[in-house]
Amino acid sequence: MVSRKFKRIKVRVRTPISKTGNGAFSGGKINNLLLIGANGDNGNDGKRYLVKGLRGLLNHSMMALAEQKGIEICHSSEKKETQSGEKLLPEGFHPNGACYPENECIRHRIMGSIKKASRVKFEPVVIISTYSKEKNGDAQKVHIATESRNSLVYHSRQAIQDFGERYFSGEFTFIIELNEELVQEELGFLLQAILFMPELGLGGSINNGAGKLELLEIALQEVIRTRTINKNGKIIEEEKERNLWKQMEEAIEVW
Ligand SMILES: [Zn+2]
Repeated sequence: MVSRKFKRIKVRVRTPISKTGNGAFSGGKINNLLLIGANGDNGNDGKRYLVKGLRGLLNHSMMALAEQKGIEICHSSEKKETQSGEKLLPEGFHPNGACYPENECIRHRIMGSIKKASRVKFEPVVIISTYSKEKNGDAQKVHIATESRNSLVYHSRQAIQDFGERYFSGEFTFIIELNEELVQEELGFLLQAILFMPELGLGGSINNGAGKLELLEIALQEVIRTRTINKNGKIIEEEKERNLWKQMEEAIEVW
């Protein structure tokens, strides 16, 4: 038998509608999409999608929180200025990873950078249409659809461009696993950043009605996961979880 004991934060959220972000092109592919999955139209044939952007949202949330609290942390950018000399970093931030190792900031201690591995791991959030027949799978069921939209010309209000935008709607849970124990101050900052996430919104079209995120439940848990092999060579995996309400409450109050 093998086993591992670790902590995780489980967050239950609801979004009335979340849309893909406009991502940067890299190698002919669009990065930074909210949903990554197979092509297809209405999702009622059981296509699975990966919800992207949660880690990025948490990073931005940490930045907003640090600004509010007046503490300096890593910016997501690794550069101070663009090639043309334009300043990239707002006041109160240093380039990502520049603080390491001498004056490591709280964000870097938790999230790491190219210089040091992250101490938290996001479990993949796989979603599937509510119409899917899949039962007891690991995918979470939400409403997935494509909204047909068009752009109108300013004066004539004629449609000039039609396009479809993928969105999803519903409740889902995301899990952040702690690879290592965090001290109370770090755990508190992480929890507060999660609490701040709805202020920023998930995915794209935030200023146009999408990306609203409601936090429903949050739990800090201690997990013991064990794996054994039975007589017939079948692998049995078991998880025991325990909610750490007091530790969560104390960590939040550090800040
Ligand atoms: Zn830093």
